[in-house]
Amino acid sequence: MSDNNSKTLCAHVEEELQVKDPKSYLALIQPATHYCQGCGRSAAKAENVCKPKKIS
Ligand SMILES: [Zn+2]
Repeated sequence: MSDNNSKTLCAHVEEELQVKDPKSYLALIQPATHYCQGCGRSAAKAENVCKPKKIS
């Protein structure tokens, strides 16, 4: 997996990263600082969701 850093969480979940590699998945979502306005997922980095919105 070479494009791990550029992909959004939304794309990772479509490929079932949370099933195949839970550890990497957790690293992407913890600690959550943003959530996606498109799909409602939360992520540690804004660039990991498709429509980032800061959690305040
Ligand atoms: Zn999304």
